[in-house]
Amino acid sequence: MKDWDNLIADENLILTKHYTPGRNGRRIDKVVLHHNGGNLSIRGCYDTWQTRQASAHYQVDANGRIGQLVHDRDTAWHAANGEANRTSIGIEHADISTSPWRISDATLDNGAHLVAAICKVYGLGRPQWGVNVFPHFHYTSTECPASIAGDQRDAYMTRAQQWYDSMVNGADVPAQVPQAAPAAPQDDGRLAVDGSCGPATIRRWQQVMGTTVDGVISGQVVPNQRTYWRPALPTSCVTYGGYGSDLIRRVQAQLGQGQDGLLGPGTIRAIQAHLGVAQDASFGPATVRALQTRLNENRF
Ligand SMILES: [Zn+2]
Repeated sequence: MKDWDNLIADENLILTKHYTPGRNGRRIDKVVLHHNGGNLSIRGCYDTWQTRQASAHYQVDANGRIGQLVHDRDTAWHAANGEANRTSIGIEHADISTSPWRISDATLDNGAHLVAAICKVYGLGRPQWGVNVFPHFHYTSTECPASIAGDQRDAYMTRAQQWYDSMVNGADVPAQVPQAAPAAPQDDGRLAVDGSCGPATIRRWQQVMGTTVDGVISGQVVPNQRTYWRPALPTSCVTYGGYGSDLIRRVQAQLGQGQDGLLGPGTIRAIQAHLGVAQDASFGPATVRALQTRLNENRF
């Protein structure tokens, strides 16, 4: 950032479309975290969002440079949830590894610093997970933000709090703790039970259910924003379309649900009941871990 205290980014590359001017009178009360599902530059985000009905306020690239693509005062289309979009600032982060997903130390440090700066400028208080900082999957069915809500979450949030304490109270900022190298992916044919619903998990689910194996749950509509979930999409977690998924239709048939092929709240609750986990209608890590455990037994 050129100026953390005034939220001036290294680069301004403001979209000309695919956001909503203003916030319909709503106040910013949270930050929502995303990962690219790939390694995009600031320009790469711009090009992607100029051609898709999606956007976020900031992109933190793999070198820690920060771009602003939607002004804070406007509503970016990042959470697949209109109310969440109107009340949040969305930050995207570049991945430097896809298996497992991983953001660089520089991305983690600058993303966390940006969270701290936003919390300070908008009076949100010290950054706290689930209080004023949320993962994308809190609002819709997605694996996003992957490692930032997984094995990099604690380092990210600790760093955000250190930067906040420095910005607000003048506390010293400790040296950044370098991240350990990512764990090697399991290669014994078993899914990692990591709660992250990536392409490997979907492929196995498709094998078990007997549908086309492509690692994608396609055609997922979320009401009022026409967004759908395609975890294998290389450049963004949010786009639009909607035809339903054969995998989800097969799951719905097994569970006695209406077969619209959409992974909506009713279907997620039915899946959660089937897997014996809490029925909160969120396709989050606990549900995915139970699914992965079941798939490793070659059944759903
Ligand atoms: Zn996201």
